[in-house]
Amino acid sequence: MTCGLCGDEADSRHLCKRDAAKLAERLADLPTLYDELVHCLVPRRLGWGEIVSTKNAAGPQSPLNEAVLDEMNTGHMTAVVHSWRVDVQRIRWPQHTAPPPSGLTADCRWLAMELDWIAAHYPAAGDLAREVRTLEAQARSVVGDPVPQRKVVGQCIAIVDDQGTVCGADITHMAGESRLSCRTCHCVYEGQQDLLLLLHYQPVTA
Ligand SMILES: [Zn+2]
Ligand SMILES: [Zn+2]
Repeated sequence: MTCGLCGDEADSRHLCKRDAAKLAERLADLPTLYDELVHCLVPRRLGWGEIVSTKNAAGPQSPLNEAVLDEMNTGHMTAVVHSWRVDVQRIRWPQHTAPPPSGLTADCRWLAMELDWIAAHYPAAGDLAREVRTLEAQARSVVGDPVPQRKVVGQCIAIVDDQGTVCGADITHMAGESRLSCRTCHCVYEGQQDLLLLLHYQPVTA
């Protein structure tokens, strides 16, 4: 039998060893890429003062990345990966009911765990691998390649509701970024004043 992706001889498998290994890598990377895509949605020019007083930053004036917006609006990546999980499970365990939507990370992990079976027995393994490869390439074209490494530098101090609740999410930074932004509440810390405030209000760790 030949590999469903590259066409090379794959013994009795639907996916050759090399493409199976690549698929495993891509399934491991997709959730990270997706997180980065979400991050690319954050309006880039909002400052500390504005974000605190602006409930909904998105709008016609927001400098959002159109490609990212499309992805987020349609949920394309999540839907595609989930449909593959549904199909693999349908073929492998026809008596089981279809898995409910469980998020991209869970679906990628599930497919990765079933990868040996997929490569050996799933007739559409080549199509699955091809589609995952396309999703990965699309995400990387927006996010960058390699995926930038992030480092936690502190916790977000933004107030997120009328009761004075502090966001508290981890703030991460990667080389080359001139500002920090919170991935949970989208608060942006930029300039010395913001950074001093951020440092000053860090929770005291025991
Ligand atoms: Zn192959
Ligand atoms: Zn926050």
